[in-house]
Amino acid sequence: MGKEAIHVTEEEKERQRMLIQQIRDLPHRPQTYHIVTYGCQMNAHDSEKIAGMLEEMGIAAADKKEEADFVIFNTCCVRDNAERRALGNVTWLKEIRRNRPEMMIAVCGCMVQEPGMAEKIMKQYSFVDLAFGTANLHQFPELLYSALNSDRSVVVVSGEERIAEGIPVHRLRRESAYVTIMYGCDNFCSFCIVPYVRGRERSRRPEDIIREAADLQSKGVREIMLLGQNVNSYGKGLENPMNFAELLRHLDQLEIPRIRFMTSHPKDLSDELISVMSDSRHILPQFHLPVQSGNDEILRRMNRHYTREEYLDRVRKLRSAIPDIGLSTDIIVGFPGETEPQFEDTLSLVEEVRFDSAFTFIYSPRTGTRAAAMEDQVPEQIANQRIRRLIDLQETLQKNTLRRFVGTEEEVLIEGFSKRSMDAVSGKGKHAVSITMPGTASDIGQIVRCRVTGVKNNTLTAERI
Ligand code: SAM
Ligand code: SF4
Repeated sequence: MGKEAIHVTEEEKERQRMLIQQIRDLPHRPQTYHIVTYGCQMNAHDSEKIAGMLEEMGIAAADKKEEADFVIFNTCCVRDNAERRALGNVTWLKEIRRNRPEMMIAVCGCMVQEPGMAEKIMKQYSFVDLAFGTANLHQFPELLYSALNSDRSVVVVSGEERIAEGIPVHRLRRESAYVTIMYGCDNFCSFCIVPYVRGRERSRRPEDIIREAADLQSKGVREIMLLGQNVNSYGKGLENPMNFAELLRHLDQLEIPRIRFMTSHPKDLSDELISVMSDSRHILPQFHLPVQSGNDEILRRMNRHYTREEYLDRVRKLRSAIPDIGLSTDIIVGFPGETEPQFEDTLSLVEEVRFDSAFTFIYSPRTGTRAAAMEDQVPEQIANQRIRRLIDLQETLQKNTLRRFVGTEEEVLIEGFSKRSMDAVSGKGKHAVSITMPGTASDIGQIVRCRVTGVKNNTLTAERI
């Protein structure tokens, strides 16, 4: 079962709170901040925590990075292009700073946690004032305090994997809130860098999660999104054992109208979880279940621990328990050694399952992972062609798959105005599909009932009822 994860002590938290006050009183502290976030929801939520601490320091959000006194790049390193974009933007901001020498620049997140990256930042990006890894997030006040009182860059990357409760959070959305239930990952999929940069899997205590959810409910939050790299293996090493299905059962007893979660690993999708979902009052009928490939040999070399047939069996079970469930997935093309017939197995799986949406990626070698050292890396041109074919197929199928909703009633949590019109609003329905309907600013943050009228650009259109 393993040991319970180490928590940051009360004394340590108190020290950080004191430093927040001290920064508040510093005459030369920044007045405004802007955070640029790359990558997944975990990163987006970490940015909300950084913003929470900055707001308590009396530092206010600025709309544009070039106008802020303090710019923080919260980076991702899952694929090479995310890393290149972040570093390109950091370099671009260096030029802007020529006219604004008081501007401070920080880099944090997964990329900083990569082996060798701290040294690279110190050598090639020495103009960066502060760099820290994901494991140092709770020490942000202390690190910023040091950076404000030093002429040199402060670069700190800790290998310690602890859980920090009680960090202030400045939530970007009023109606929907992220709640992290676990950190890190133990799966070591051969292509993935996450376990190396986010560390071993550690679960928050259920009582801390339930308390946070209850607090969000009292603030009128309409939806919580439970976050983790592999939420359905939640619970490893807890002093009072609880698995993900049981945690969901507890959260379902609260009165938060919508509960969602991501990401789930197919190998850990238990029958108990499916049954808790189908019996629940608030867990939405949707599932993000990354398949990565439709070919058994590739899945084996990816270290995914399931076969194509086992994946399809999970999908069948989900659909028989929760008809109409909204299903989405992640797929990688061009994994080392992937042959044309193996890629065609992925196409045929997509045809067979009929996902409501799919996030598709070209394999990107990550130094230190097992796949990066594999022979037969697929040429870029072939990988580009494959992803095009996959996207074309998914788009064609998706239009038809989504037609099953036409004529049905849906409840949509309105996120904002539609991109195309100020007379229309949009948000996610219960099945995680985007839906647009006529509406006004007063709908934002509300759950609105509607009838689906059609499919347009892979989203749904609806009329209000
Ligand atoms: N933990 C989640 C899971 O198991 O599916 C997702 C984590 S990862 C941040 C999100 C997605 O990025 C993965 O599902 C995978 O499809 C993709 N990904 C991860 N490493 C990749 C790589 N080296 N190249 C391309 N895509 C990658
Ligand atoms: Fe990466 Fe696999 Fe862990 Fe997801 S489950 S974070 S893909 S190692």
